[in-house]
Amino acid sequence: MNLGENEGIVTEIERYAIYDGPGIRTVVFLKGCNLRCAWCANPETQNLYPEMGFFVNKCIGCLKCIEACPYDALKYEDGKFITDRNICMEKCYHNERELSCVAACPGDARVQYGKIMTVEEILEEVLKDKSVYDRTGGGVTLSGGEPFFQKEFMFKLLKALRANRVRVAIETSGFTDWENINMILDDLDFIYYDIKSADPVLHRKFTGGSNDLVLENVIKVSEYAKKNGLPIIYRIPVIPNFNDSKEEIEKITKFIKNELYRKDYVELLSYHTLGLGKYESLERDYSLTKEKITKEKIKMLKEVVSEAGLKVL
Ligand code: SF4
Ligand code: SF4
Repeated sequence: MNLGENEGIVTEIERYAIYDGPGIRTVVFLKGCNLRCAWCANPETQNLYPEMGFFVNKCIGCLKCIEACPYDALKYEDGKFITDRNICMEKCYHNERELSCVAACPGDARVQYGKIMTVEEILEEVLKDKSVYDRTGGGVTLSGGEPFFQKEFMFKLLKALRANRVRVAIETSGFTDWENINMILDDLDFIYYDIKSADPVLHRKFTGGSNDLVLENVIKVSEYAKKNGLPIIYRIPVIPNFNDSKEEIEKITKFIKNELYRKDYVELLSYHTLGLGKYESLERDYSLTKEKITKEKIKMLKEVVSEAGLKVL
């Protein structure tokens, strides 16, 4: 996809968010991620190109999408839609800014994951709530995907937000070169940093990437945070058969306690399967269990963190 100098790909801009930093916020979800976490609840944010999702339960059967597809990628046979996603990839995802099948659909059955936007367009949207941010101590949170995956675009957006006196937080996996993180720390008001596992083998198996970089970077981030008073929350997504045991949470807790300079809060995020419908819409497999983690288990794991002397959310 050829993007203009000031353009990036955004999956969603969520207004009035209350769980992604202080006050009332707008979360800008940037598309693209270099990890492939098996539990990812937002699979539509992983690839850096627009993609078509299909929600069969919303389809009214008008077949306008089939007529609209210029490449014959869609068929309707024996009461079912068949999509040749290789054609979508080759013809549309890397070339088209707007997907014809989605544009033709009269309802929400076909959706385009990923909209190309300029910094100015995003700014216009998020500044609508500037007075709300100022009143509540809120601002904008950059999320993803992984915001550093579109780093040049993200840097420009961040600068534009600061120029408009908007407070900015980031949610990051930390899986990027230190130079990238270091470049933006002075412009941040808040940081959420994922620590998924202290075990290198498990981390690679479940996320597709090494945790060396993630852990090296978080040490440096925490040092900066301590010196400069940058609030930081370490987030642990609690995932079945990955890190939902006392031993695995203890390993992470020990790392935070012994290696990190600033230790404001640790947040345990309980595994959920709310993203399953998006996997289906993209015709992608989901390999993890669909069973939830019990409240009792989360309580026990939170106790592991607090018994180590850390504050837990
Ligand atoms: S994404 Fe493109 S190729 Fe695929 S069905 Fe839609 S219009 Fe056709
Ligand atoms: S255009 Fe939309 S509603 Fe009509 S058949 Fe296609 S997916 Fe279904």
